[in-house]
Amino acid sequence: MLNIRYELTKTKKEKPDYSKLGFGKYFTDHMFLMDYTQGKGWHDARIVPYGPLCLDPSCAVFHYAQEMFEGLKAYKTASGEVQLFRPDKNIERMNRTNERMCIPHVDPDDALQAIKAIVKTDIDWVPNEEGKSLYIRPFIIATDCQLGVHPSHSYLFVIILSPVGAYYESGIDPVKIYIEREYVRAVKGGTGFAKVGGNYASSLKGQEKAEKLGYAQVLWLDGLHRKYVDEVGAMNVFFIIDGEVVTPALDEGSILPGVTRASAIELMRSWGMKVSERLLSVDEITEAAASGKLDEAFGTGTAAVISPIGELNDNGNKIVINGGKIGKVSKRLYDTLTSIQWGKAPDEFGWTTKV
Ligand SMILES: *Cc1c(COP(=O)(O)O)cnc(C)c1O
Repeated sequence: MLNIRYELTKTKKEKPDYSKLGFGKYFTDHMFLMDYTQGKGWHDARIVPYGPLCLDPSCAVFHYAQEMFEGLKAYKTASGEVQLFRPDKNIERMNRTNERMCIPHVDPDDALQAIKAIVKTDIDWVPNEEGKSLYIRPFIIATDCQLGVHPSHSYLFVIILSPVGAYYESGIDPVKIYIEREYVRAVKGGTGFAKVGGNYASSLKGQEKAEKLGYAQVLWLDGLHRKYVDEVGAMNVFFIIDGEVVTPALDEGSILPGVTRASAIELMRSWGMKVSERLLSVDEITEAAASGKLDEAFGTGTAAVISPIGELNDNGNKIVINGGKIGKVSKRLYDTLTSIQWGKAPDEFGWTTKV
C-alpha cells in the first residue's frame, strides 16, 4: 500500500471545449509523482498540482533516453461510474519494459493504486460524452545528474491525465498505410517489445515520409529481411486472408504486445474464428489481394481501438482492401470492445475495473 500525500490545487483550471478535445492536448488539474532512490526504493508518492518538472540539464533521461511509458484509458459508464480497461495488463507490460530498460520494477498493486488515486482526484475531467475518455499516461524517467552511460540510480514515476475525444470524429474511417522499405523500427534483441520513447524517436523519419505522401501511418517490416510484417506506427496489425485472421507473432521481441491486440485475439477466438500468430510476408498479402482473398485489415491500439485499413502502398503499388471500407470483423470488434469499455455490454471476460 502506498501512503500517498495530497497537495491539491487551489485554482482549478477551466475545462476545455469537450467537443474539440483531439488527442493529448489538454491536461487535468493534478499529477502523480513518486521518487526512486537506490537503497531506499520507491518513496514519496504524492498527488500535486499539474505543472512543469524541474530537472537538471545533466539529467540522464535527456541524453540516453532511459525512460518508459504506458497508455490506458478511464471510461465513464451510463450509471456515472468510472472504469479502467485491463489495467493489470498495462502494469505487467510496464514491468517488462522496466526490466529491458534497467529501470526498477514498480509493485503492481502500488501502480494500480496510483492510477486509481490520480483518476479519482481528477474524476470531474472524465468526459460524459459518447466515445470520449480520459487518457492515462504513466511514465518513468532516469534522473541521475551525470553524463556517464550507466543505468541511473534515481528515477521519477509520473502519471498525467488527458481528456481525449473519439479518435474518429465521423465514425471509423479506414486509414491509408505506407509500407516502409527503407527504415526499420526494431530488430530482434532490441527494444521493439518495450514501450519506450526511443522506438518512437527512430520512427519519426518514416512517419514523416508517409505523411508527406498522404498516408496516415507506416507499416513496419522486420529489421532483418524487411519482408515480414511487424506492426503499424502505434498499433498492432491484423489481416484476414481467406477467412484466417493473421497477426505477427510476438516471439521475435520486435513487436509491442498490445493490450488491444490480446483482447481482439481473445474475442475473435471466442467467436469461433481461426486466429494465427505467425510470420506474414508482404508478398503473401500482395498475392492474397491479387487473388481476391484479402478480406480485411485493421490496426489495434488503445487510442483508436480498431482502425480499419483501406489501402496499403508498397513502393507505389496500391493495394485497396475491402473497397476502402470498414470490414465486418473490424466493425464487430470495434463495437464489442467499445461496448465493454463504456460498460454498455456485459463484461464476460472480467476486463474492467472500477476506480
Ligand atoms: C502502445 C502501442 C501499441 C498498442 O498497444 P495497446 O496496449 O493496445 O494500446 C502498439 N504498438 C506500439 C508501438 C505501441 O507503442
